Amino acid sequence: MGENANTFRVLPGVRPGLGDRVTRVGDDAGGGKDAAQERSADLNARLEELQELLYAEGRQKVLIVFQALDAGGKDGTIRRVFDGLNPQGVSVASFKAPTDEELAHDFLWRVHRHAPGAGHMTLFNRSHYEDVLVVKVEGLAPADTVERRYGHIAAFEQLLVDEGTTVLKFFLHISRAEQKERFQGRRDDPDRNWKFNPGDLDVRARWDDYMDAYEEAIGRTSTADAPWYVIPADRKWYRDLVISEILVDALEGLDMSYPPAPSGIDEIEIPD
Ligand code: ATP
Ligand code: MG
Repeated sequence: MGENANTFRVLPGVRPGLGDRVTRVGDDAGGGKDAAQERSADLNARLEELQELLYAEGRQKVLIVFQALDAGGKDGTIRRVFDGLNPQGVSVASFKAPTDEELAHDFLWRVHRHAPGAGHMTLFNRSHYEDVLVVKVEGLAPADTVERRYGHIAAFEQLLVDEGTTVLKFFLHISRAEQKERFQGRRDDPDRNWKFNPGDLDVRARWDDYMDAYEEAIGRTSTADAPWYVIPADRKWYRDLVISEILVDALEGLDMSYPPAPSGIDEIEIPD
């Protein structure tokens, strides 16, 4: 396993101490911005090959979860790291505030149907973790309900793993200062005003509560089979590099191969 996978993975049973974890790396991290972007481009090409293989083999499933505070970079990561992959085998599921119909069901009802099928890779933009994060901080469900959800999440993810899914979970860790800068950009730039949601400021005001909730959620649900990675995400070029490395590593470890050619293919002639 590559160096970054080890550096940023949260070991099972360890509360990740987000306050002590880097959000903003130095200018020369990953060899500096230019080198990092070049390497990310190479990794993107490799990811494309691996996804093609995943699809062709049609056996394994890959689920990649992204969680972050507002302006944490989920959309940008999904756009850049997965750029150019064959849309036939990759989907994105975004989980917003639940609809009335979703609220009328158990919290995993809307999530499970988006889990990847054989040969597919699915990216979760937010996820079932919202049900122990925002729901906890905003008191949207009783505390004992939230507490019980930890058991359900563990069982759900184990079910996916047992049935052949590789599960990887990324928390994009940004600083308060970086979030302010990104909000400011959205507020000031007319082309990005649409991304500015005044309600996000209420969430920002509860920053420490969200950090606590994230620490608890990540600490309690990072397992050997479904690990969490806490990614320093203030600098986008570094974030993209690290996530690309971890994904390529994980997919290379899957031991995939193209299906065998039809028997007697060498003797077959294609008629004019
Ligand atoms: P953007 O980066 O574009 O703002 P977003 O993921 O924040 O993307 P929004 O529509 O702004 O999308 O926000 C979705 C909101 O829905 C978030 O505030 C999130 O916390 C909330 N949400 C998601 N799942 C749940 C849930 N199960 N219960 C309550 N709120 C939820
Ligand atoms: Mg939002």
